[in-house]
Amino acid sequence: MPRPFAAGDRVLLVDSRRRRHLVTLAEGGTFHTHAGVVDHGALLGHEEGIEVRTSRGARLVAVRPTLADYVLKMPRGAQVIYPKDLGPILMLADVFPGARVLESGVGSGALTTTLLRAVGHDGQVLGYEIRDDFADRARRNVEAFLGPDIPLEIEVRDTYEGIGTTDLDRILLDLPEPWRVVEHAAGALRPGGILLAYLPTIGQVSQLRDALAASPFGMAETVEILQRSWHVDRQSVRPDHRMVAHTGFLTHARLLQPG
Ligand code: SAH
Repeated sequence: MPRPFAAGDRVLLVDSRRRRHLVTLAEGGTFHTHAGVVDHGALLGHEEGIEVRTSRGARLVAVRPTLADYVLKMPRGAQVIYPKDLGPILMLADVFPGARVLESGVGSGALTTTLLRAVGHDGQVLGYEIRDDFADRARRNVEAFLGPDIPLEIEVRDTYEGIGTTDLDRILLDLPEPWRVVEHAAGALRPGGILLAYLPTIGQVSQLRDALAASPFGMAETVEILQRSWHVDRQSVRPDHRMVAHTGFLTHARLLQPG
């Protein structure tokens, strides 16, 4: 179905050196870069994928941002989980359409947006975030990408104090001391439910694994996702010189029946 660019749409402008700019289109708007100016009018009414020229003749390609593009460009309060981890998180936590998911903390909303896309309109994402400014920012970020019609509830509260619901399918944690949530999670998940925690350091992973080992959770695993990008330019095909060497470890476990 054709969906030409309209005012209010977000557009990713990519230059010949792969620099990316996220722009919100407006009637009469202009986009300024060191390579010149682009009138939004050159984009409005066109399908994505077109190439436009700046006032100084530089070429820019215009496409709608993917979720990964958006996550890397959206305004941040807290550090976000990167796309390389967001994809595997959906698989390791087996997030499915219709799932009831608790997420904490919500931070900037990168994982929240990813979860909402995966659970769909029949699912539910409940977010616990201790800072009200982050909760507000996250909701704005999520709605800017998915629109306001989403099954999301964010509560400003401390997840270490407890979880105020039951029968959850999945719990996803990105907070500093997830071992303090293990007992609450065991009471809030349905049997067979999955707990997944994202943690930057291995000492935190050990502490979480100890807490899981002493709980009704089983089948625990910890993985690290490494992504190495390649430089491909005719005869010169090799790994890029630089890579993101570390983000976080992913630990997941399932709630089993006692005995
Ligand atoms: N996963 C998020 C980033 C989360 S950053 C994203 O992808 O955007 C960690 C968040 O946990 C911060 O916003 C912090 O305020 C919140 N937090 C820390 N301790 C918490 C607690 N005890 N209860 C609820 N939220 C907490």
